[in-house]
Amino acid sequence: MSARSGIGYDSHRFAEGRPLILGGVEIPGAERGLTGHSDADVLTHAVIDALLGAAGLGDIGQHFPDTDERWRGADSIALLRRVGALLEESGWAAVNVDATVICERPKLGAYRDAMRERLAATIGLPASEVNVKFTTNEGMGFVGRGEGIAALATASVERVQ
Ligand code: MG
Repeated sequence: MSARSGIGYDSHRFAEGRPLILGGVEIPGAERGLTGHSDADVLTHAVIDALLGAAGLGDIGQHFPDTDERWRGADSIALLRRVGALLEESGWAAVNVDATVICERPKLGAYRDAMRERLAATIGLPASEVNVKFTTNEGMGFVGRGEGIAALATASVERVQ
């Protein structure tokens, strides 16, 4: 069996008047959301890049360019679903995903299971195969100053055809 791994990284800046959506889950009561061409779901974007990387299929900007009006305000979970279909067409199946969200505020631990379930269901994996972790940046850098949120992800895939 042929197995491969990929990495993903993304960051988005906070903005007033936007919902905060992470891993396809809208965080209730968040003071600010993230800004971007799509819904700016930084966690889902990192997961997309990890899956594309593992399958050798490029990156999120190639598949969903921010110059394309089709993706304005896009639901990142719908983009992840398209990436899942692309993997399948290319003969790859996702095996597992691990991700870290780097954020000072708000606290996100209460939404961990909802994010795992949403991401896993979108990729067609059991929630046990999608891990989501949270950390702060100890007050350092752009995350520490509360300017935005960053996310890292790894994914592994296996050949199915
Ligand atoms: Mg992004």
